[in-house]
Amino acid sequence: MAHKGSCHCGDISFEVDGDIGQVLECNCSHCRRKGYLLWFVPRAQLRHETHEHYMGTYTFNKHVIQHHFCLRCGTAPFAEAKDPKGNPTAAINVRCLEDVEFKDLEIKPYDGRSS
Ligand SMILES: [Zn+2]
Repeated sequence: MAHKGSCHCGDISFEVDGDIGQVLECNCSHCRRKGYLLWFVPRAQLRHETHEHYMGTYTFNKHVIQHHFCLRCGTAPFAEAKDPKGNPTAAINVRCLEDVEFKDLEIKPYDGRSS
């Protein structure tokens, strides 16, 4: 199933294929500030045509994850990285999907602060 998502102002819009399973709520210094609820999918399941002119990228620590955000409204809808095996992966912030009921999510705490 395809899920539609966007930033708040709409400059970034996207679609993600798949069934939303477990989402991670990470306590690291970055995730806790942005309030991410992250769903990890193979990068190929994420489609967006946002021009880089509208999309900022933030990296920190080892700089292996590209956290994207809207340059107008600041919303951070997804990130791109590689999984431990080197496969392109996307981390979707399910808070930016249209059709998600938060009460139905299986939210798993992730201790990113300690790792
Ligand atoms: Zn925006």
